[in-house]
Amino acid sequence: MSKFVGAHVSASGGVFNAPKNAESIGAKAFALFTKNQRQWKAKPYEQETIDKFKERLEVLGILPKHILPHDSYLINLGHPEEEKRQKSLEAFIDEVTRCEQLGLDRLNFHPGSHLKKISEEECLDRIAESMNETLQKTQGVSLVIENTAGQGSNLGYKFEHLAYLIDKSIDQSRVGVCIDTCHMFTAGYDIRTKEAYEQTWHSFDEIVGFEYLKGMHINDSKPDLGSRVDRHHSLGKGKIGLDAFRFIMNDTRMDDIPLILETIDETIWAEEIRLLYSFMES
Ligand SMILES: [Zn+2]
Ligand SMILES: [Zn+2]
Repeated sequence: MSKFVGAHVSASGGVFNAPKNAESIGAKAFALFTKNQRQWKAKPYEQETIDKFKERLEVLGILPKHILPHDSYLINLGHPEEEKRQKSLEAFIDEVTRCEQLGLDRLNFHPGSHLKKISEEECLDRIAESMNETLQKTQGVSLVIENTAGQGSNLGYKFEHLAYLIDKSIDQSRVGVCIDTCHMFTAGYDIRTKEAYEQTWHSFDEIVGFEYLKGMHINDSKPDLGSRVDRHHSLGKGKIGLDAFRFIMNDTRMDDIPLILETIDETIWAEEIRLLYSFMES
């Protein structure tokens, strides 16, 4: 099995519940929040929590590289106000540390927003600085930049933004990217036909490079191509359609990384996972 498909499952009641929730929908990978994503602070983990989490992974046979924790939506590493960037940075370092404690090797994050107060480039520089400070203060965990739809003042909607951040990094062995298919599509990158799909990924490879692809979010899209609006949909029910997901499931460049559903109806995640695996031709 070369494809590792799962969903962003609940960790309520404790992070050790996430592996079980993943298993119950037939997932071979999963995403989770390592703490309450709506709060700035959380208590440090008890050793028991960490042990239980690792134990359950082992029982289920899920490897750390197939788990893609997602950071809190409150964090803005490119915040134009220094005090608020610092607050975000502190919270981000705490999250990376939590991943490290859980034995996980990557953390997925949204790059940041300029809030129309500074230029895109100034904001990218702040994000790069925040990433570098984090890399200095932590170890073993890769910072996985997610591409965005470019809604509002969110950066990361162009492959060039991702490449810029990688380029400024003091440790390229600990940075990666996560490509969200809905964000990609609404940012203007078409993947609906084989030709468009190949062209989009060719330009991804030229600008960013497949060696940095550490995970994907598998979502259909409610809004149209290039709309710059971030609204996910269930597979096959949105504007992308099923073909793109069939291409992904048969593309070896997406082997061995977490492929995570963030589709809107979690009651059909098990079905969507089965559907994706059914697309595999070999
Ligand atoms: Zn996403
Ligand atoms: Zn989204």
